[in-house]
This record gives sequence, C-alpha cells and structure tokens, in this order.
Amino acid sequence: MPKTSKIYLDNAATTKIDKKVFEAMEPYLQEDFGNASSLHYFGEKAHEAISKARNQVADFLGCSALEVFFTGSATESDNLAIFGVVRSAKKKGIVKPHIITCSIEHPAVLEPIKHLEKNGEIEATYLPVDKEGIINIHELAENIKENTVLVSIMYANNEIGTIEPIAHIAQLIGNLRNAQSKNLNFKQSQNANFQNSKQYPIFHCDAVQAANYLDCNVEKLGVDLLTLSAHKIYGPKGVGVLYKKNGIDIEPFVLGGHQERGLRAGTENVPAIVGMGAAVEQIKHEKRQAASLLKLRDKLLEGILKTIPHTHLNGSRKNRLPNNVNISFEGAEGESILMALNEKGVAVSTGSACSSGNLTPSHVLMALGIGVERAHSAIRFTLGKYNTEKEIDYVLKVLPDIIYRLRKISGRFS
Ligand code: PLP
Repeated sequence: MPKTSKIYLDNAATTKIDKKVFEAMEPYLQEDFGNASSLHYFGEKAHEAISKARNQVADFLGCSALEVFFTGSATESDNLAIFGVVRSAKKKGIVKPHIITCSIEHPAVLEPIKHLEKNGEIEATYLPVDKEGIINIHELAENIKENTVLVSIMYANNEIGTIEPIAHIAQLIGNLRNAQSKNLNFKQSQNANFQNSKQYPIFHCDAVQAANYLDCNVEKLGVDLLTLSAHKIYGPKGVGVLYKKNGIDIEPFVLGGHQERGLRAGTENVPAIVGMGAAVEQIKHEKRQAASLLKLRDKLLEGILKTIPHTHLNGSRKNRLPNNVNISFEGAEGESILMALNEKGVAVSTGSACSSGNLTPSHVLMALGIGVERAHSAIRFTLGKYNTEKEIDYVLKVLPDIIYRLRKISGRFS
C-alpha cells in the first residue's frame, strides 16, 4: 500500500458522494438554481427536480410520494417525529404522553426524548438491550401503557451494527393498537377530545444506518414514521427524509413558509434533495453490494480475532450490518489505536462520530454490559462500497504491531 493512499473505514460516520449522485446534483448548484416556490421557469425547474426526488424516495420506501417529507438532516427528522407526535398528542388531550425507546438509540432520538422528560412534558421508558444489543420484544410489550403515544426503535445501530427486529415490533404494536382502540372506545365516548386513539402508539424507526443494506419497504416493515439521511448512503450532507404514513398526525416544529406541505418550513435545499433521490436510486442498482461487503467484513473481523489475542467482537455476530466491525482490544486505548491507524493512513472511529473527543465511554457499548475498560478499547471499522480486499489486507498487516506496541506501553499482555 503506497504511503500516500488513504483507507477510509468510517462509512457509518459519512460516505463519499457517488459520482452519479454528484452529476445529478451539479446542474442545481449552477444553471438550475431556482427557488422551488417561484412561479417562473427557474422555480418550475426546481419544483420538478424535488418532485422527481420525492418519487425516487417513495419508490425506495414503497410508499406514496405524499408520504415523503424532506428535512435538513436525519437529526431533524428524528426530532420532528418525536416533538411532532408529542405536540399532536397533547393537542388531542393526552396530558402526559409516554414514549418508549431503547438505550442504544442515536443521540438524535435520545436527546429530544430526554429533553421533553426533563421538562416534565412526557414520561419515557428506555428499554435495555441484551449483550448483543438487541431489545426484548416482550419487555417492549409490557411497557406499553394507555398514554404511550410513540415507540422509537432504530433499524440498525450506528456503533455496533446490530439489527433490531423492526417488523416484529410493528406487528406487536399493530396488535396492541387494535386491542387498545377497542378498549378506548368506552373512554372515547366519555372524552370527545380523545380522537384517533387507534393510531397510538405510533411507531417510528431511525433507518439511517440500515438504508444501504436492509429492505426499507415501509409496508413490509409496518412502521408509521421512518428516518433517512443522504450522507450515509453516498449522497450529500444536510438533507434527511421523514416518511410519515398517511393519516398519522404530527405537528411541525420548524415554522415559517408552506414548504413540505406545512410540515417543514424553509426554502428547499434543491441540490441536496436531488442528491437524496439519486442516492436511493443507486442503492436499488447495487443489490450485490451487501454480499461482497460481507466477505470483506468477515475477512477483517475474523482476521483480527484470529491474529490478535484478547480481542472481542462487540454486538451480534449474526444480526449485524454487513459493513460493521466493532472490536475491543484489551489493554489498548481506542483513541491511541485510532491515532496510530491514522498515521498509517487508515481512518476508523472509536464510537459514534458525534462522541469523538468525548472521553465518557459510549452509551451503546456500556448498554451491552461489557464494562468501561472494554468500552474504552473499542474500535469501529465501517466498510463501504469503495473498499477493496487489498485495503483490508493492509489493515490486517499493520494492526497487530500497533496493538502490540500500545499494550507494551500500558503494561498489559506484554
Ligand atoms: N441516526 C443514526 C442512527 C445515525 O447514525 C446518525 C448519524 O450518525 C443520525 C441519526 C444523524 O444523521 P444526520 O447526520 O443526518 O443528522
């Protein structure tokens, strides 16, 4: 591997824009720069481009174009889902709504829920996960109460790649919803304000990390709300999607213009939205991506576990994204491994990108019950479609020596 070339193994943090995506976006940064709300030719061009992207996303999700809403990021989509459901529920007379989520969610889900809980506006339940990072469906069922308005569970985790049983959760919620609606009919007759109780609990799923590899057909999944981010799927940064099933009520929280049918005000980021459309289109054409990545992932994963002693895979071996390897190297600090790999031209992460520079151990790894030391010695390698076998061979060549040196310094296993 020549010294100057760089190996990018941090695709869960962000991905390189696909050339076809970039080409689709380019005209909307230059000659077709119009505001989609304008009534003249330039506005029409922008409006058409957004419509096309909306159709591409709808096609990818298996929903109607009217159920696709563009936002400024997946963080915004997650926030819109949470604040939007809570505000709508309150409007309907639910004084203290209850939300169920899980302890390993991304901060884009956890922080708005914690914020609402701290303000006394909601009650929240944070479901634990097992040692592989998977929630227990029975525990979820036991925690659903009469005032539960939202269940928010991610499709796949950004740090350990664990895949959650979304379709099973949806099935359970659907069954409970039907049963609950029958029970609530009596109460509804007493409280005329409590309409649409049948839609609760609403099921939101953050599918940001799953979108490249797993089926995101919303009907098959059975979700009511779903979040996507373009920059994790070889598209541009600064654009997200919230799928909102027809008939599900949520209140907007960015107010201003009439854009996105009143659910998200603000002049549309036309080139980025075009990029989102082109990015999901590309996923459809790259169905074989997962199979070839799986081979590379397993080569890296097994290579490390075999050649470097005292290493542990974090998360599930089986229910795992095909691009994620998260390994703890006992006796070596994650930050030091990252820096040493960086010097060798290899880019990895110690946890989620958002927590880099933060020395508190990852909430995801801690939720697995692996302890602080193992959490601090974890490295996340996330592969992408541009990685090659040669690159994996190079990492497997340089890594043992790095770990050996760091363990020598720490005095462990030397
Ligand atoms: N949800 C998950 C699971 C993520 O991995 C990320 C980004 O790391 C986000 C949400 C936030 O995405 P964005 O950068 O588009 O705000």
